[in-house]
Amino acid sequence: MLSITDLGKTYPGGDRALDSVTFDIGSEEVVAIIGPSGAGKSTLVRCINRLTEPTDGTIHLNDTDITALSKDELRTARQDIGMVFQEYALVERLTVMENVLSGRLGAVSTWQAFRRKFPAEDIQRAYATLDRVGLAGHENDRADELSGGQRQRVGIARAVLQRPEILLADEPTSSLDPETSHAVMDLLTEIAGDEGIPVLFNIHEVPLAREYADRIIGLSDGQLVFDGPPTALDEDA
Ligand code: ADP
Ligand code: ADP
Repeated sequence: MLSITDLGKTYPGGDRALDSVTFDIGSEEVVAIIGPSGAGKSTLVRCINRLTEPTDGTIHLNDTDITALSKDELRTARQDIGMVFQEYALVERLTVMENVLSGRLGAVSTWQAFRRKFPAEDIQRAYATLDRVGLAGHENDRADELSGGQRQRVGIARAVLQRPEILLADEPTSSLDPETSHAVMDLLTEIAGDEGIPVLFNIHEVPLAREYADRIIGLSDGQLVFDGPPTALDEDA
């Protein structure tokens, strides 16, 4: 499914954020990446859809080497990779429905692109997906009228509407209070389970990783230092 081999990232300026990271993720696994601040968690997740460009290694999603794609090919490949962001990354002045439908466009870059007509099937799925994430009736709300938890639900709906092969989440709960964090993680993992797709998320709260992941990957100074089930993780980790 997802196969990461010898992945490395050196930022301009010399920071070595990832060093020879190798692991595979199978279909339907829920995998959490943990580690101290600065360990490379966010860099790792963002390299998978090349929001951050890796400097070495390969990333295969099924048979496609993501690292080898041209910009045009990458736009298509990103349709297979759903992404949920810490700060939601919604377009604040657009409605909930418009934000969710943008999941079908890849990156929405212009109003012109947005005005493109959507097939009725997409609209129907968008309504159904909004219902699924608990936002039925909020379709015409502007994103900037929503609470943090509601925004993240829109972010999840947008990612799911793509019918991705994998869901990535970069600190999906960092901007949320504990109760909302649980609600969002419940939703993210339940939807991925329903859709039969794997989830890879990075998170700084180890208890949330233990609670929601089948498998934990630990990073320290850009290196993979742990890969196993939550039960194998030290109590004090
Ligand atoms: P984490 O998500 O585990 O906190 P990050 O992936 O954000 O870690 O960062 C890993 C390392 O890379 C840190 O040393 C950080 O300072 C550095 N880093 C992250 N983003 C950038 C950037 N855009 N430019 C330069 N260095 C960066
Ligand atoms: P112009 O080319 O005159 O800047 P646009 O129609 O591209 O006009 O954009 C008008 C305003 O809307 C700008 O402030 C721009 O930042 C914003 N904007 C453009 N595209 C989008 C989009 N897809 N979603 C949200 N806002 C957008």
